[in-house]
Amino acid sequence: MSDVGQAWRAARSVAPPGHLDAAGCNVPSDRVLDAVVAHLRLERERGGYAAVPDLTVARSALAALVGAGPADVAFLESGTAAMAALLGGWRFPPGSRVGYARTEYGSTLMLLRRLGWNLVELPVDGDARLDLDGLRAGLAAGLDLVIVSHLGSHRGVVQPAAEIGTLCRTAGVPFVLDVCQSLGQVEVRGAGASAYVGTSRKWLAGPRGAGFLIVPGLTPGMDAAAPTLGGHVWNEPGLPEPVPGAARYESSEGAIAARIGLGVAALEHHVLDPSAVHAHLADLGRTARGLLDGAGGWRVAEPLDEPSALVTLEPPPGDTAEHAAARAAAASLLVNVVPTARAPLDLREPVLRVSPPPGTPVETLQALARVLAD
Ligand SMILES: *Cc1c(COP(=O)(O)O)cnc(C)c1O
Repeated sequence: MSDVGQAWRAARSVAPPGHLDAAGCNVPSDRVLDAVVAHLRLERERGGYAAVPDLTVARSALAALVGAGPADVAFLESGTAAMAALLGGWRFPPGSRVGYARTEYGSTLMLLRRLGWNLVELPVDGDARLDLDGLRAGLAAGLDLVIVSHLGSHRGVVQPAAEIGTLCRTAGVPFVLDVCQSLGQVEVRGAGASAYVGTSRKWLAGPRGAGFLIVPGLTPGMDAAAPTLGGHVWNEPGLPEPVPGAARYESSEGAIAARIGLGVAALEHHVLDPSAVHAHLADLGRTARGLLDGAGGWRVAEPLDEPSALVTLEPPPGDTAEHAAARAAAASLLVNVVPTARAPLDLREPVLRVSPPPGTPVETLQALARVLAD
């Protein structure tokens, strides 16, 4: 096993056996757990409002993962809440055109429909990867915003974020990158997005109940969907104004202990070395696809050599993702069933998702291949 795999395992005195669901909810390290519990204790001992932590290091650690600064970070409760805070308060004139792909996450699609913008579907290729010529054409025809999920919840394809970022920047069009499935798994630096939407519990292995926005490209028309007192100043008798930086998006009340834990998780990711983690996970993904593709007639949905550890499998006739997940659970293997609602425009039937965290032994993947073949 690689050094990354060993260090990952050594940092966790307890982990569920056969855990293959990093893309759903990963396993926090002992340090992350201790930091969360320690802050909850402090809040009880001092009073919650007296135990105010300095989150600057946490913000810096997260921001550095995309090449941004601490003032660009806002903590929220989930990826969904972060996307809603960002898009819901972004003022665009009526008739504005927003480019998206059919691989987009279900809750983002619901939000986009509700906001009443003109939605422009951008073309994808046979692997559901965004077609860059199609994006070029879309930008030339006029777009006011582009939204892309770096990786979907339902497919291991890594979207060409750096190329998309370059095209959008050249065209002067803001670009929102959903990094809920990519930060901690694949390289995000270089995307040059205006805003990144992320979540704690997946590849970064932070606690549940925390999400975040990183907004290096803040412009005057941007504010939170629901203005908070902490993120705004009320200039009597004038109008309330957002504070500088991404703090305008941050919910004042929230699971502060989870934000501290997320910061510790981001720091641990830096210590492991992000590029070593990415390489290790790409290896794990390729190994998993090689072992699982064809087992019992199951078929891997993304290219076998895709550099991600998010592996999705389509069932053979006579089997279903639900049945296979139940058989896996009986063999102490934790995999996920992805319902079509996660990507309603792209997914026709539920797929089985296998997302090994760092340090997954090959034997666990071999055991799953046997379960699928049964
Ligand atoms: C999980 C996920 C989200 C939403 O994050 P939550 O924290 O569950 O709200 C958004 N986009 C993608 C691609 C995801 O995988």
